[in-house]
Amino acid sequence: MNVEKTGGRLFGSGRCSSLSGSPGAAPVVHRMVEAMSQLQEEKCQLQEELVVLRERLALHDSDQQATSAQLQNQVESLKEKLISQAQEVSRLRSELGGTDLEKHRDRLMVENERLRQELQEWRAQPAGPCPGCEHSQESTRLRDQLSQLQLEVAENKGALSELNLEVQQKTDRLAEVELRLKDCLAEKAQEEERLSRRLRDSHETIASLRAQSPPVKYVIKTVEVESPKTKQALSESQARNQHLQEQVAMQRQVLKEMEQQLQSSHQLTVQLRAQIAMYESELERAHGQMLEEMQSLEEDKNRAIEEAFARAQVEMKAVHENLAGVRTNLLTLQPALRTLTNDYNGLKRQVRGFPLLLQEALRSVKAEIGQAIEEVNTNNQELLRKYRRELQLRKKCHNELVRLKGNIRVIARVRPVTKEDGEGPEATNAVTFDPDDDSIIHLLHKGKPVSFELDKVFSPWASQQDVFQEVQALITSCIDGFNVCIFAYGQTGAGKTYTMEGTPENPGINQRALQLLFSEVQDKASDWEYTITVSAAEIYNEVLRDLLGREPQEKLEIRLCPDGSGQLYVPGLTEFQVQSVDDINKVFEFGHTNRTTEFTNLNEHSSRSHALLIVTVRGVDCSTGLRTTGKLNLVDLAGSERVGKSGAEGSRLREAQHINKSLSALGDVIAALRSRQGHVPFRNSKLTYLLQDSLSGDSKTLMVVQVSPVEKNTSETLYSLKFAERVRSVELGPGSRRTELGSWSSQEHLEWESACQTPQPAARAHSAPSSGTSSRPGSIRRKLQPSA
Ligand code: ADP
Ligand code: MG
Repeated sequence: MNVEKTGGRLFGSGRCSSLSGSPGAAPVVHRMVEAMSQLQEEKCQLQEELVVLRERLALHDSDQQATSAQLQNQVESLKEKLISQAQEVSRLRSELGGTDLEKHRDRLMVENERLRQELQEWRAQPAGPCPGCEHSQESTRLRDQLSQLQLEVAENKGALSELNLEVQQKTDRLAEVELRLKDCLAEKAQEEERLSRRLRDSHETIASLRAQSPPVKYVIKTVEVESPKTKQALSESQARNQHLQEQVAMQRQVLKEMEQQLQSSHQLTVQLRAQIAMYESELERAHGQMLEEMQSLEEDKNRAIEEAFARAQVEMKAVHENLAGVRTNLLTLQPALRTLTNDYNGLKRQVRGFPLLLQEALRSVKAEIGQAIEEVNTNNQELLRKYRRELQLRKKCHNELVRLKGNIRVIARVRPVTKEDGEGPEATNAVTFDPDDDSIIHLLHKGKPVSFELDKVFSPWASQQDVFQEVQALITSCIDGFNVCIFAYGQTGAGKTYTMEGTPENPGINQRALQLLFSEVQDKASDWEYTITVSAAEIYNEVLRDLLGREPQEKLEIRLCPDGSGQLYVPGLTEFQVQSVDDINKVFEFGHTNRTTEFTNLNEHSSRSHALLIVTVRGVDCSTGLRTTGKLNLVDLAGSERVGKSGAEGSRLREAQHINKSLSALGDVIAALRSRQGHVPFRNSKLTYLLQDSLSGDSKTLMVVQVSPVEKNTSETLYSLKFAERVRSVELGPGSRRTELGSWSSQEHLEWESACQTPQPAARAHSAPSSGTSSRPGSIRRKLQPSA
């Protein structure tokens, strides 16, 4: 890189000097030409003057010989000057050395040629034994340097050729000047000869004139008169001569300048030579490096070859040894090989026949597989048929089981004593259980023990899951297309909402039922396609409202289906399709929010209204197209406490009357259904009317009677348990049915109505301790006598 920079600088300065020299030469030559022309003019003038002089001389006598001699001398000196100038010119020409420069140029050209050849040789050399290694990188670097040098050489060549051109031009001009000078000289020589001839003639004339004396005297006199004029002319001539000498000095000066220019171009040439020498040395060094590298590579190669050769020799030795071993083995193996060849031939024969055998085997296997598949298919069909039959049977059995358990079942759940129950004698526990019979509950009412028998009794320790297990079968039957109603009945605070809704950590029947439905539906997904929808409504003061609607305060009506099927429906009741527990939670939350915004005191309100969650399960059998619809109604009833006792008035009394009416109607309907009466008074309340479909026919009903265990609530507990037992113990036989229904329905109503004014007589709690009358849960119920 350094070389490149230096070269550039050197070249730059060289070119500048050569360019500055070139324009300087033109004026010099011009001046020379001018001087020459001046000289010529002067020469002409001189010639003219000489002519004049000669004429005058021709008229004068010998006195003027001295003047003539002087003139001769002047002419002589001028001649000498001209000769010396010519010599000077020739010397300058030799110094400018057109030939020397040409020689130098030739030398440079030869040198360049040689360098070019060397470069070509370098290029022609192979890239190297190991392309990509550091040597090849080095060589490429050197090659780059070389190309740079070449560029510089080319530039130098250009500069040189420029100089050559300049020199050539100068030489041409010099030759021109020389020629002119020669011409001048020749003219001068001729002139001199002419002048000398005339001088001779003048002399002769003078001599002849002298011979003629009288006229000569006159002439001499004339000459004497004219002599001062001639002298003046002579002095003028001398002045002119002086001027000519000055001109010659100027010419010399010009020549000197040219010499200097020549010198500077010499210096430039020397510089260029030095540069070229430097490039040469650089090239030589690069070449040397290349050679060294090549040599080291060659050595490496030789070393590698030697090593490989040595290794190969060792390996060859080992191979030879192995070969010897293999040979001995071969000798021993030959008999074995022979037997193997025999075996192989035999196998070959077998293989040739193998495709045929294989085809045969494949054909038979295919046939067997086809037969097996056919058998499996028929078996499958058979199994499917059996499975369907079993399914029907299971449904029937399940139905029968539920029927045996009773389509209408009543269970009781006793809540634990809570902080809200307070302390003291009022908060003492008044409920006990039969350790051997989970359908018996004992209540200590005003010191008197009263026992009740229901389908099942859950103690305060029973978990939500325990309770749910009891109702699980009902929910499953909903998927089979049955309608199901589950009611939570009891006084406010007895645990109805807890059993139905539960808490987020411990959900109640509602959420568990839907979860069960989801998992059951999933299990049957291969054969059935189910959709589950949910509606939520409440009945308050005999007004039905949609809890999931946009306007929950809107009154809804129950209407008969216009299709004439006799079925009921509620126009405008919102239905949400649910697919996961998350969906259910959202629906519940929405319903809850609706209720909260609608009523400031939700707790109180909810205790005075019936909350219904209606789940509809619609299924389609994928193979048969059979459709089923089951409805699950989960009802959190209004508090059953007898408000009238405390002498309520106005709206409170109206609420109490509505609740009483609807709960009585529910009791009536359930009793009518259980006794299989022809007429069931569904229309007596909104609740029973709404649930008509789900209570009649093959429908299944479960009443969970919630009970508070503490002393202060024993009166309400007694009432609830009596209601439960009465609903449950209605005779199923047709004769007793009517009696039972008549005695319960009308009388209880009246009693309840009167209870709104007067405390209910204890005598109404007829149920004697159920010793001897109890039966195992799920067994066929004993007949009970009508209570009245
Ligand atoms: P209701 O709906 O009949 O008015 P709640 O369900 O609101 O009664 O229950 C009243 C209180 O008793 C609530 O604080 C509830 O958490 C509690 N409770 C009811 N049943 C149980 C139970 N089985 N276990 C624990 N706490 C219960
Ligand atoms: Mg409640």
